[in-house]
Amino acid sequence: MVSRVIPVDTFDLVIFGGTGDLARRKILPALYRRFCSGQMEGDSRIIGAARSDHTAEEFQQLIAEGIKEFDPKAYDAEKVAEFTSHLDYVHVDALGETGWKALAEKVSGDRVRAFYFSVAPSLFGALAERLHTHGMADSNTRIVVEKPFGHDLASARALNQDLAAHFDESQVYRIDHYLGKETVQNLMAVRFGNMLFEPLWNAQYVDHIQITVAETVGVGGRGEYYDKSGAMRDMVQNHLMQLLCLIAMEPPARFEPDAVRDEKLKVIRALEAVPADDIVRGQYSAAGKQPNYLDDVGDPTSRTESFIAMKVKISNWRWAGTPLYLRTGKKLKARTSEIAVVFKQTPHSIFGPESGSHRNILTIRLQPNEGMDLGVTIKEPGPGGMRLVDVPLDMTFAEALGPDAEDVPDAYERLIMDVIRGNQTLFMRGDEVEAAWAWADPIIDGWEQRGDRPMPYDPGSTGPEESMMLMHKDGRRWREIKT
Ligand code: NAP
Repeated sequence: MVSRVIPVDTFDLVIFGGTGDLARRKILPALYRRFCSGQMEGDSRIIGAARSDHTAEEFQQLIAEGIKEFDPKAYDAEKVAEFTSHLDYVHVDALGETGWKALAEKVSGDRVRAFYFSVAPSLFGALAERLHTHGMADSNTRIVVEKPFGHDLASARALNQDLAAHFDESQVYRIDHYLGKETVQNLMAVRFGNMLFEPLWNAQYVDHIQITVAETVGVGGRGEYYDKSGAMRDMVQNHLMQLLCLIAMEPPARFEPDAVRDEKLKVIRALEAVPADDIVRGQYSAAGKQPNYLDDVGDPTSRTESFIAMKVKISNWRWAGTPLYLRTGKKLKARTSEIAVVFKQTPHSIFGPESGSHRNILTIRLQPNEGMDLGVTIKEPGPGGMRLVDVPLDMTFAEALGPDAEDVPDAYERLIMDVIRGNQTLFMRGDEVEAAWAWADPIIDGWEQRGDRPMPYDPGSTGPEESMMLMHKDGRRWREIKT
């Protein structure tokens, strides 16, 4: 299979926070890979902009080292030198006047112009305003904003208003890198490109849906940020919510930004309030030993959750009676992300009770081994009567599509190129983000008002025991978190 690379229009991409961790770890290596693939046309430019004073050469060196460190497999000294010759740097203060005139002069040409806000969200408003004041907020301009988009509904609204004061919604690209994953888009292809699944995609045939995003890492160096956020704000309100929307939404009329985002918004608005009994919060804690969440964040009294499991209901015709179970956490047994659509059993077994209970399960794996499999029930081979067994119809992309499937662009590569192409389909609209906070806020407020403490769980486990009970009490069980 030959993958097609269509070059994007010539662009200027300014990365505010170009010297920061995200820029070095993700954004620039992603651009480097797109450059190597031939997608970046000759005179496109990438301009780092940050508070510290660097020459363009120093910035180029910093980024070359970043590619070597964070993407050693793709590192090729000659290619990197060619790529970094497209990089420039301006010393800009988001909160002052330093550098803005110089930046405006650099990006004055008639070409696609994107500004990536890879800085703390507290700077978003100041950046938007200064781009406007210095004549860079015209109709050619796009802005890209990173997570977290707000801490609650009020702060998300304030951020939206700050951006809307200078930019139209069609110019704002709110990144959720989960939406850029190949499998997530494949989920839409499978649902809406096949006749097979959609007729069964409802409460009549689906017993329940599970979404698990498990990490093995702890809070690491992000303790201070994470402790103010927790799993609900850091993962559920954004990433798991986006996955939930794509799995549950009605078919959009077209694969176009607002058609897709309208349908996602309807799902969020149909979410029921979640009772406290349907949520389990956890905090990793190894009795007296490291690693321990409280040590990692340096606050022995912290009540922030590093794990959450919850049962969610969608009040609409399609999903009434079919719950979704969401689970995410740090320091778990394995790093795995998957969505499992668990279908109901057949209404009657012609093979009798001894054939056991069987269900079809469609599993969409985001990591590792991106792909899907569909569990189907067949006869166990050999003599001895009709014994049934569940086997997977495996659609691991790397196996099914050949080596090209391993070279698919990662989420940041795809999303940045979508910004340049002006395609907002895989970006969150402002009203979606606000609706997700409007759902999450009362849950978080409830914990705070009651002073709820998360349940301890062992690092390397599958989370607190109570999270198992959440399923058991409904006669269901979580899928295994596999190493
Ligand atoms: P970081 O390493 O602390 O970098 C912050 C950047 O902002 C630096 O380049 C810094 O420049 C620049 N900066 C700070 N104050 C400035 C000012 N007044 N004017 C201009 N530039 C200023 O942060 P990060 O980890 O890259 O994160 C950036 C954003 O992405 C944050 O919103 C974060 O929540 C989000 N994010 C990060 C990750 C990640 O993996 N790192 C993942 C998802 C989302 P100097 O270094 O020159 O001072």
